[in-house]
Amino acid sequence: MIVAIDGPAGAGKSTVARAVAERMGFLHVDSGAMYRAVALWALENGIDPSDAGKVIPLAESAEINLDGGRVLLNGRDITAGVRRPEVSQAASRVSAIPGVRRELVRMQQEYAAVTSVVMEGRDIGTVVYPNARVKVYLDACPEVRARRRVEELGGDYTQVLQEIRERDTRDETRADSPLRQAEDAVYLDTSDLDEAGVILAVLRIVRERISSGTGVTS
Ligand code: C5P
Repeated sequence: MIVAIDGPAGAGKSTVARAVAERMGFLHVDSGAMYRAVALWALENGIDPSDAGKVIPLAESAEINLDGGRVLLNGRDITAGVRRPEVSQAASRVSAIPGVRRELVRMQQEYAAVTSVVMEGRDIGTVVYPNARVKVYLDACPEVRARRRVEELGGDYTQVLQEIRERDTRDETRADSPLRQAEDAVYLDTSDLDEAGVILAVLRIVRERISSGTGVTS
């Protein structure tokens, strides 16, 4: 069983995916953390995150483990590092490189071979698991998403808003697997909902989809 949750930065994907996974007893996989891990590794080595020739070998040799909310890169705990703003920007650059996506999508697809998952990202319902039983597209206006990010991680609102807009543009306009809603995904605008409201709404969608048998189990 696969639940795919896609949407832009700050739409509430992580909170919802974690809560739904807990409630359903599924594994929660944050695919963005994998792009962030490769991006952090590149930055640590002084590599330009857009340099495909240097970043693809990193993605190919990275051993990334997502362990109960922690991110391990080659056995090293990088959970705090991957959330830094410069890593967010670098992640959106490495994620535009097709060779990086190919490698990380392969790793992401391996999860569902062994267990039921709730996976969040940008292309889960469109590319990673096009046959997912449940697909949700979470959205919110950029201003609300920026405010949420500032509340969560701090920082200057105007700068965070600008960074979110830049990331949106890069994610939506890249040639390989751009951010877009899958045709069979349920669209949910979370701008006017609080955290509990979003979780409830998504749990309702998941239960409806499961009981109606809509979609195909991968
Ligand atoms: O979800 P999160 O904001 O942590 O993702 C960081 C970046 O990784 C995104 O801005 C996006 O560019 C990229 N990403 C992606 N495909 C995914 C997940 C994340 O391209 N499935």
